[in-house]
Amino acid sequence: MKRSDYISWDEYFMSIAMLSAMRSKDPSTQVGACIVANNKILSVGYNGMPHCCHDDDYPWDRGDGLDSKYLYVCHAELNAILNCHSGSVKGSTVYTTLFPCNECAKAIIQSGVAEVVYACDKYSDTDSVMASKRMFDSAGVKYRAYNASGKEITLNL
Ligand SMILES: [Zn+2]
Repeated sequence: MKRSDYISWDEYFMSIAMLSAMRSKDPSTQVGACIVANNKILSVGYNGMPHCCHDDDYPWDRGDGLDSKYLYVCHAELNAILNCHSGSVKGSTVYTTLFPCNECAKAIIQSGVAEVVYACDKYSDTDSVMASKRMFDSAGVKYRAYNASGKEITLNL
């Protein structure tokens, strides 16, 4: 008899997105993304500074002007798209812990990602997320909320 308490594909890929988010140095928002095609992981990402822009040299606060993290941080979904070793994410699904912002939505559409599965949509009333949904609808990118099972996973690291 096979085990019955194994995790589902959705749980597996969202877990990896959540684990990736734990790598983020951002004190307020940690986001992770995992890009999948045919149940195989193509790429992962989390929100962080661009390559060679060192975490200790750049601001992590909302700040003003050039001292704002918003000018520098590369979002999880964009990182996952750009990190993909095989080069193409066409037709893939991106699992993300937070609904993509409008900038990531553009990258998702332009790179050919077909579906977005998101764990949290707490900024749904912002212009950014409303613009994302408008663009996804126009481009035919499907999006669905991750159906949390409430299952807990403990890792002893
Ligand atoms: Zn984004």
